Amino acid sequence: MGRPLDLLLRGGLLVDGSGAPAREADVAVVDGRIAVLPPRVPVAAAEVLDVSGRVVAPGFIDVHTHSDALAAPLDGGPGPAPELRLAPLLQGVTTEICGNCGTSLFPSLPKRLPALADHLRVTFGIGRVRPAADFDAFVAGQDPALRHNHIASLVGHGTLRAGVMGFADRAPRPDELDTMCALLDQALTQGAAGLSTGLIYPPGTYAATDEIVALASVAARHGKPYVTHLRDEMAQVETALEEALEIAARSGAALQVSHHKTAGRHAWGATLRTLPRLERARAEGVDVLCDVYPYTAGSTVLHAMLPPWVSEGGIGALLERLRRGDVRDRIRADIAAGVAGWENTVGNGGWDLITVASARTRPDAEGRRIADLAAESGVAPVDYVCDLLLAERGEVTIISHSMREDDVRRVLAGPLSMIGSDGVPKPGRPHPRWAGSFARVLGHYARDERLLPLERAVHKMSGLPARRFGLAGRGVVRDGAVADLVVFDPGAVRDRATFERPLMAPEGICTVVVAGRVAVRDGSATAARAGEVVRVR
Ligand code: ZN
Repeated sequence: MGRPLDLLLRGGLLVDGSGAPAREADVAVVDGRIAVLPPRVPVAAAEVLDVSGRVVAPGFIDVHTHSDALAAPLDGGPGPAPELRLAPLLQGVTTEICGNCGTSLFPSLPKRLPALADHLRVTFGIGRVRPAADFDAFVAGQDPALRHNHIASLVGHGTLRAGVMGFADRAPRPDELDTMCALLDQALTQGAAGLSTGLIYPPGTYAATDEIVALASVAARHGKPYVTHLRDEMAQVETALEEALEIAARSGAALQVSHHKTAGRHAWGATLRTLPRLERARAEGVDVLCDVYPYTAGSTVLHAMLPPWVSEGGIGALLERLRRGDVRDRIRADIAAGVAGWENTVGNGGWDLITVASARTRPDAEGRRIADLAAESGVAPVDYVCDLLLAERGEVTIISHSMREDDVRRVLAGPLSMIGSDGVPKPGRPHPRWAGSFARVLGHYARDERLLPLERAVHKMSGLPARRFGLAGRGVVRDGAVADLVVFDPGAVRDRATFERPLMAPEGICTVVVAGRVAVRDGSATAARAGEVVRVR
């Protein structure tokens, strides 16, 4: 051995992220890179950690977050609390992929940036945000002092569309589509990881299939995936899945189905059909995979519970409309009867299954059901919702208890899924998935429920996502790989985040190494700030 080692993890059980069986090995770090050594060979290292009885694994990759603005300097406001920032790292997540569900902080024509800032404020909800014209400007806007782990970003189609043509409910003109393709091509050249859509969210929902095929074809030319929050994850989920498969087939892009679920009573049990459908598409040559978070509740913005026409023109136009009684009556009628092509979460469930997660001026509402809040106020639920949105200038996040456990388990255990928290790091009472997903899969589902072997669970958090998103040299523990590592106690690891206490850190995640530096020691964050923005080439 030539030069001394920076760090040696001695005596652990290596689960290397490839899905291969666990084996005894020591893992060393030199110059931010990994060297795998035979167990317990005496070598010198600047720091030696005895990890006997523990598992050493690649740092986890969270393929689906909404943390885009968490490390961007804010133009005002206190900024997110430390426990909100640290939640992924304390679970062992060393890389996050943001820009999901059609929403990223870039790209845009410069003249559209102010309107985009107002739109994105509502999505990210941690004060004002500063959208960027391109990926390079996004990278420049990230504050290294606030980065605990690495981040890669997709190009959000909703942002791209709003950045070129605003919030109009119409097809793009040919010149507008050309501009969208050019901005996407530039961002992917600069290192963005792929293209995402959020086809339930305005303005993404205004796009027809052909528009997305044109954009996904640009991603395909870069060898990067098309990542989609389907147009419907409830009663019409199977139709929506066919649209995504058609887009993949016509564009040639790999397909990543985001947070795959079949939610609402009309779709419960539909994973019995959607998962075999995905496997058949794979056998027929479509490179399709999906991600999943280990909970039966979802979380999104409150105004996504309203029919899409309410949002036309952007958040300002939405708020103006919500003041009017005739608009509220039409919302009530649409929720009761449905609208073709609209997911209609409330019609599939009910206001009693939806709780307020984040509402800055109404902390007393956080954690409570909308049906109860409306009843207490003596108003109809739609009126309560409209009044709350007006009071918060549109900035309300909700949690929707909409899925069935057997569906979640089926997706988690299946061969095509990887883990993505879909974490939305907002204050208040955010969904516990931001702070609990990875520990919950390892502890509750893999160990306690024996739903899947530990090696497969780790693969879904490391090797598989690294391959899907082109994160070269990450996601596996092998010689020369980037030294992103996690050490956990396989008997003790468990999530503690709940809907009541959503940011509780997990137990059993002992050490986290980011780019060769110890970022978590004995379960607590250190002062290390080794995270970087990953450019995918
Ligand atoms: Zn989504």
